[in-house]
Amino acid sequence: MERRAHAMLFPFPCSGHINPTLKLAELLHARGVHVTFVNTEHNHERLRRGAAAAGLRGREGFRFEAVPDGLSEEDRRSPDRTVRLYLSLRRSCGPPLVALARRLAEREGAPPVTCVVLSGLVSFALDAAEEIGVPAFVLWGTSACGFVCTLRLRELRQRGYTPLKDESYLTNGYLDTAIDWIAGIPPVRLGDVSSFVRTLDPQCFALRVEEDEANSCARARGLILNTFEDLEPDVLDALRGEFPRVYTIGPLAAAMHAAQGSGHGGAGPAGLSLWEEDAACMAWLDAQAPGSVLYISFGSLAVLSPEQLAELAWGLAASNRSFLWVVRPGLVAGDRGADALPEGFLAATRGRCFIAAWCAQEQVLRHRAVGGFLTHSGWNSTAESIWAGVPMVCWPGFADQYINSRYTCGEWGVGLRLDEALRREQVAAHFEELMGDTGRAREMRRNAARWKAAAEAATAPGGSSYESLGRLVEELRLGDDDALAAAAAQDGR
Ligand code: UDP
Repeated sequence: MERRAHAMLFPFPCSGHINPTLKLAELLHARGVHVTFVNTEHNHERLRRGAAAAGLRGREGFRFEAVPDGLSEEDRRSPDRTVRLYLSLRRSCGPPLVALARRLAEREGAPPVTCVVLSGLVSFALDAAEEIGVPAFVLWGTSACGFVCTLRLRELRQRGYTPLKDESYLTNGYLDTAIDWIAGIPPVRLGDVSSFVRTLDPQCFALRVEEDEANSCARARGLILNTFEDLEPDVLDALRGEFPRVYTIGPLAAAMHAAQGSGHGGAGPAGLSLWEEDAACMAWLDAQAPGSVLYISFGSLAVLSPEQLAELAWGLAASNRSFLWVVRPGLVAGDRGADALPEGFLAATRGRCFIAAWCAQEQVLRHRAVGGFLTHSGWNSTAESIWAGVPMVCWPGFADQYINSRYTCGEWGVGLRLDEALRREQVAAHFEELMGDTGRAREMRRNAARWKAAAEAATAPGGSSYESLGRLVEELRLGDDDALAAAAAQDGR
């Protein structure tokens, strides 16, 4: 039998999970691990019809496979489709994963699956790994501080901080309560620990799912994080008290870039965008002055009300500076996109505004014309911005985005925060301050340049993330030995 590690990777089927898991897959493959990347059949089909189709063909030692997600067309159209997807996968996706691993073992030329790597929100795959008889590793897609805060949701609930007593607690200052007992985390506002503390419902489904999913990582052989040691040293120290094997291999975008540039068997082109990327925005950026453009995106899931969209739009219009704004279909409530922009906005910003439905965000952030990023503080976006050395205006709204934003503005000194209730005056003022020439803006740019250099050093040969990835690959090979021992024991029975 060929003694080669074979990782079967299965992310929760949305962009924020697929993108980092695919990067990890490429990095493992570049270090000699055989890879099977598993999409849902629905996404596989969607990708096959789009620009990413060629990437799906795979190559030597890197294959794509698909399993059903169990959703009906009606489920897919429902406003709570993400919840339905979560429940459906949990209910029905374990057996197809086990069957796939067994089928792969019978295939000529490929080693048997020796480990399962899952993203967050698919903890049922831990059971599948157990059934296959191989160790599991979780790539939890948030920062280390995001992960620790999610772990502590259970304690917050047990200590009575959440659920909130009534609606008034959302606005009466209660969310400013200091939380100073989470090991590794500096004193933070209760509201910054997570969006999930805002519930009034003692049985809140989302809160329970988050805390269960995070705590179930303790069952995995190792925890993989898209961060780097210098960025979050205290929280990583504290985390290692609970999780003996934590692999910090980020920023993944930087690690990919470094591997691609290494020239010897570097990682392949990791791109499985579920949306078509607008190429024209790159040409538009080429024509702009260095550092002059604000890039705006709220990731793949956020939904704004038409009122929020209007405050944002008129705030951007008021600044007189240039901006590139990703308004994806579905960004606005009622499944709307750019058609929901307020009347007169495009005319008022003509010549200094580019609206794209989706773009190649990493390239955009690294473009010399981009000097700032207005973001929802999703972790992938934040890590990409840190690597690109671009300061941020943060408007968090969900899950770990609040704590990411707290660290971006507080600990890392590279951001300004917008209030929860968007006001056009504040949008315009923060836009001006971020892109202007005040002492604060210059300091944020200096800090951003420092973090960019630190991210590059971490992912270069000898850096902490580079070495951590090496240790992970070694551990996967140990998993291989375990699997061989188990197979030998079975043969001997
Ligand atoms: N992204 C992109 N093009 C866009 C907007 C976003 O490629 O126009 C990517 C971005 O680079 C990031 C991901 O989508 O990798 C968004 O992930 P994040 O964790 O920031 O937010 P989520 O979508 O999970 O809320």
